[in-house]
Amino acid sequence: MHELSLCESIVSLVMESAIREGLTRVTRVTVDIGAASAIDPDALLFCFPLVTEGTPAASAELSINRIALKARCTACGADFAPESLISPCPVCGGHDRSLTAGRDMRVVSFEGE
Ligand SMILES: [Zn+2]
Repeated sequence: MHELSLCESIVSLVMESAIREGLTRVTRVTVDIGAASAIDPDALLFCFPLVTEGTPAASAELSINRIALKARCTACGADFAPESLISPCPVCGGHDRSLTAGRDMRVVSFEGE
């Protein structure tokens, strides 16, 4: 399950920053997950407490923002929100476009004390 290793990266990233900021406890972690990132938010929520167990983030809450797909048409330059990875441009019907949002996962913020 790649969500487990993903969780480990999230937690180690957060812990590193938390220690640098002098926090002793992490209470909330917020991540953005793109709709096309192939990450299952439920699996992530399931893994999070397993990974944080025994760390200063043990009782932290994981909050997930789903980021919708956004694309820009290469042919006409239109920005649109495709329903799926194979949706064509709604303006010109072209299939040549690049995703501008919704593909990645990133840690947005965390809170602690
Ligand atoms: Zn277009």
